[in-house]
This record gives sequence, structure tokens and C-alpha cells, in this order.
Amino acid sequence: MSEKTMLYIVPTPIGNLEDITFRALRILKEVDFILAEDTRTTGKLLNHYGIEKKMIPHHQFNEHKTIENILTRIKTGFTCALVSDAGTPAISDPGFLLIRACIREKIEVECLPGPTAFVPALVNSGFASGHFVFEGFLPHKKGRHTRLSILANEERTLIFYESPHRLVKSLVQLSEYFGSDRFACVCRELTKIHEETIRGTLTELIAHFETKSVKGEIVIVVEGKNKKTPGGTLTVVGGDDGDGGDWNGQNNV
Ligand code: SAM
Repeated sequence: MSEKTMLYIVPTPIGNLEDITFRALRILKEVDFILAEDTRTTGKLLNHYGIEKKMIPHHQFNEHKTIENILTRIKTGFTCALVSDAGTPAISDPGFLLIRACIREKIEVECLPGPTAFVPALVNSGFASGHFVFEGFLPHKKGRHTRLSILANEERTLIFYESPHRLVKSLVQLSEYFGSDRFACVCRELTKIHEETIRGTLTELIAHFETKSVKGEIVIVVEGKNKKTPGGTLTVVGGDDGDGGDWNGQNNV
């Protein structure tokens, strides 16, 4: 089968190296070059699957400068795949600027379906998944309080990406803005050896996490306003205190 699209967006595993599609591997083998957020990280993935391919760095610090050059290469007939360190490019990762530029230049773009952290977190949470809001990372400083005030009235399930060292601070602020009895779910180390899902009220989650040093990667899912889970109490599934490391160092297979 011939693939005519010239920029492929290729999702890569978020922890477990088995979480990559046959088609993603074929595209990575077939393209002329790979745009990689971190060539060392992607190099380990390629190495694991025996793929040798030219890689060009494409990350938040160079994407503004390199786009024109990439467009020129693609227009000359080269096919290209964009990958990030983990998950789907352009989801809280570089990609949006290049995709927009390709569309503007009438270069075809095709995103393969594949791993992303927020979908398993939403589904694991058990909260309403028919309608949801993906917020990615909250602003660290400017605009954070405004954002939280707006979201406090959101009735759909809310999803946030968070770093381990900010988890407790964010849970405390979510509790201040959304109410301490709002239900939430913290998904840690999805698809990795120490994967853990903790569900409870924001008060319970704060009490659970403030006594320990939190490690690993985290998605917070918060139930929408007026959607209270009946009779809940803190539940912890899986995990231990360890940090499973990132996917290139920690293959769950
Ligand atoms: N592009 C990625 C995606 O499609 O999900 C997101 C990249 S963003 C820079 C990294 C954040 O995604 C982490 O800080 C964490 O919030 C979330 N994340 C990525 N992998 C995860 C995992 N295995 N478990 C939990 N959260 C994860």
C-alpha cells in the first residue's frame, strides 16, 4: 500500500514499549526522516525496534526557526514523521506550529491514532467520559487563578497534566476553587510497572499525597460540577513509592 501523505504525526509509547501500532512502526521505517523532540529518547525507541533512520531535532526551543526548512524538504518530496518523547505530538508537546504551517502550505498531514496519557486516565477515573475538557498543564503563574475560577463551574469531566512536585499544590488549589468534597482521580505512571490509580475526594487525595514524596508522571481527572460520585471513599489501585522511570529506560514487557 502506498502512503501519499507527507507529514505523519506518529504517537509513541507513554511507558510500555508494546504500545505502538504496526502502522506507526512501518511509517517510521518508510519515511525519509523523523523529526524528534529528543533524538536520544527516540533513538532508544528506534533501536528497540531495529529501525535506523535519520533524525532531526524538533522541539519547543527550535520549532519557530526550523519550520521553513522542514517545509522546503517536504515540498521537495521527502516524507517525514513527527514524534515527541512520549504520546501524541501536539498534545501538550510540540507539533501544532508545524501542522498549522503544513496545512497553510497545502502539505497533507496525517495523525496516526495511538498512545496519549489523557485517554486512559479519563477512562480509568470512572467519571463521565461522554463529554470532557482536556486542560493540559495549568499555567504555572500568570493566569492560573483565572483559569481555575472559570473551570470551577465546568460540568464536564476535567483532565489536567501535572508534574509530581506540583501535585499537592494543585490538589490544594483545586480543592479551594472546586470544593474539598469534589471527586478526583490521580493516575500515576500509566502503562508502567508502578502504575497507580487513586480515587477520592480532593481532601482525601491531599491527605494521601502530602505525606509522601510523589514521583513519576501524573494525570489528574476531576469530576464535573454537580456530578457527585455516590458514596465514594479513597481507593488506591496498583503502584508503590517507586518511579518506574520513563519508557526508554523501563520497558514493562
Ligand atoms: N504528548 C503526551 C500525550 O500525548 O499524553 C503528553 C506530553 S506532556 C509533555 C507530559 C505529561 O503527560 C506528563 O507530565 C504527564 O502529566 C502526562 N503523562 C505522560 N505520560 C504519562 C504516564 N505514563 N502516566 C501519567 N501521565 C503521563
